[in-house]
Amino acid sequence: MQAEQRLKPHEPGSACPVTAKSGQAVLSFPAPITWEPETAECFKRLYDSRSEPLARLKELVRGALQATMRSTRCPYCLIQKGRVFDHFLDKASFPEFSIEPTNLVYVCSECNEEKNWSGENAGTDVLFPYFAGLDRNVFLQCRIDVFGDIILPVFYLEFTDCEIDSEMAYRIQRHFDKLNLKDRLETESIEFARNFVTKYRFREGNVDELQIFKEFYEEEIELNRKTYGPNFFLCRLYRALIDHYLGEL
Ligand SMILES: [Zn+2]
Repeated sequence: MQAEQRLKPHEPGSACPVTAKSGQAVLSFPAPITWEPETAECFKRLYDSRSEPLARLKELVRGALQATMRSTRCPYCLIQKGRVFDHFLDKASFPEFSIEPTNLVYVCSECNEEKNWSGENAGTDVLFPYFAGLDRNVFLQCRIDVFGDIILPVFYLEFTDCEIDSEMAYRIQRHFDKLNLKDRLETESIEFARNFVTKYRFREGNVDELQIFKEFYEEEIELNRKTYGPNFFLCRLYRALIDHYLGEL
């Protein structure tokens, strides 16, 4: 019985812990298997060892991720650079996926700390970046609040004009909550917003200059959208700034 359990695969014919339905953001996860403690320890040691094959595997995963995204940004937040490997399905619950490439996500230190979940929440709190497939819809919104000289970008989620069902909307909301993304995006955006407004003030009253200025930022939005998708925070921030300051043009 125990030997059979040790040899049992997770899903028929699949070594991958996650599956995606033809571009839809639908994921399913295997239930954790209760391994013998000794076996679980062996799996974990595969990851913890400083072996050459593991170092190579990590290098390949990093390279594939960066090539796909054309960037070194953390795929959970798209704010900071990747620094450490996160096990999407945690090692304690899924030791057998300790070195599974699709379970290794190269993330920033902050996301790694914020995520910090395991067990029954595995795979449900944070969106799986390799199969998210959410780029057809804009659900991240930004507005600009101004208090005297203070400019505050405010980020929020809105699903009213999206083809995203309520279950996925709930998951996106959890992703944002879990990783504290609202606060982090707003903090990160302040400097970009200040920079925009300083340049805007310099050109204020000059319609031709403002038109060129607007086109420059429209192009920035397009370039960022192509690389990171329409919900990348700079796309949403620049859209809100253009609407707020240059809506009349
Ligand atoms: Zn991150």
